[in-house]
Amino acid sequence: MILITHLRHKCIGCNSCVESAPDLWIMSKKDGKSYLRKSDEKGKYYTLKTSILEYDTNKEAADNCPVNIISVKIL
Ligand code: SF4
Repeated sequence: MILITHLRHKCIGCNSCVESAPDLWIMSKKDGKSYLRKSDEKGKYYTLKTSILEYDTNKEAADNCPVNIISVKIL
């Protein structure tokens, strides 16, 4: 399993995470920020536990986020 965390309120809406991992990330038409699908909101963070199979694409999303607000940890 992996844990993905998104500090959503700091998102600048660049779309990079959607390009890296389109299975889990979408852009919100409401506020122009990305959204981690099926995530739970915990204070300022949105979190999702998911399969290790999602690691590579989401690690790429984290590494490429220009404001460094995505983290991916192996559980
Ligand atoms: S890569 Fe970062 S700043 Fe860009 S849309 Fe995704 S979370 Fe937001």
